[in-house]
Amino acid sequence: MTVVPELERIRGVKAAPWAEYYTSGHRTCQGCDSAIGIRYIAKAIGPRSIVTGSTGCMYVANTSYYCTPWVIPWMHTQLGSSGSAALGNAAGIKAQMRKGKIKKEGINIVSICGDGGGADMGLSAISATLTWPDYNCLILMYDNESYANTDVQVSGTTPFGAATTFSPTGGKVVPILHKRWKKNMPGMIAAGHPDCRYVATACTAYPIDLMNKVRKALSIGGPTFINTLNPCPKGWDFDPKFSRELAELACKTGMWALWEMIDGKLTYSPPTAAIARKQAKRLPVRDYLKRQGRFHHFTDKEYDYVQKRIDEVWDSQKWSIPGVLPFYVEPSELGK
Ligand code: SF4
Ligand code: MG
Repeated sequence: MTVVPELERIRGVKAAPWAEYYTSGHRTCQGCDSAIGIRYIAKAIGPRSIVTGSTGCMYVANTSYYCTPWVIPWMHTQLGSSGSAALGNAAGIKAQMRKGKIKKEGINIVSICGDGGGADMGLSAISATLTWPDYNCLILMYDNESYANTDVQVSGTTPFGAATTFSPTGGKVVPILHKRWKKNMPGMIAAGHPDCRYVATACTAYPIDLMNKVRKALSIGGPTFINTLNPCPKGWDFDPKFSRELAELACKTGMWALWEMIDGKLTYSPPTAAIARKQAKRLPVRDYLKRQGRFHHFTDKEYDYVQKRIDEVWDSQKWSIPGVLPFYVEPSELGK
């Protein structure tokens, strides 16, 4: 049997690990939130870890000719293969331990992908991996809401109305090309994988929450999934110094929800918890959207449309995870 890693909960910023396992030597853009997120993730998992990264910004910008910021073992994998890489590594480690070739210990297997590699091209492999409860691994999808690495093309998670190189805006006849609503990747994963014990969302504006979710996912046993939202200064068109602020605004406007689901039971994390309980007022979506050049063409009509859809999510009481029906029923509901 594979040993499940034991990773303690980090109790506050002062207790966060000092050691860095994702250091200098990368070439991500200034203020790249995906890179900041990976730095936190590497801190959370520590040295007894194996990380793979499928093609995307966090592969290409991280490993340009003979440089790498990774201090722990890291390997590039093919674009749609984050799921199969996670499962393959977990199975390999398990077999080596069973044969006595390596010591039995908890090793963190983490497979990282972007939204293009995870929510679009790699979806089937991620889904397949999450159906194998005997293998311990974490698939972590950083969502910068476009194919940023190849110059910002529309992906399945690009939000409504955003300008990308595949969806230019401002035309007289068709002012907005991208009219689809963002794909609900974490909701879809949570809804369809009963053997996956842990699904969560996170963002770098709440780093302790992010690091603890990573630790929880790796300690719980079986395959798990975390989806982070990562503002991208290049693709979203904002000053790099505002990355963290935009991640916070995404949560406080209700456009990104922070939650975790353990064995089918969903819990919201701050600040989303206060919004869901109506203890905190959501900020207007305009406060978040107007800060990004990719929405500069928005008029009142588009702002109002996005606000209406976000209001529906939070006010209608229909959806626990935006876009997904509740999974957990209190026993009292069943007459027990
Ligand atoms: Fe980071 Fe965006 Fe630059 Fe990619 S394009 S390295 S995600 S800031
Ligand atoms: Mg992307």
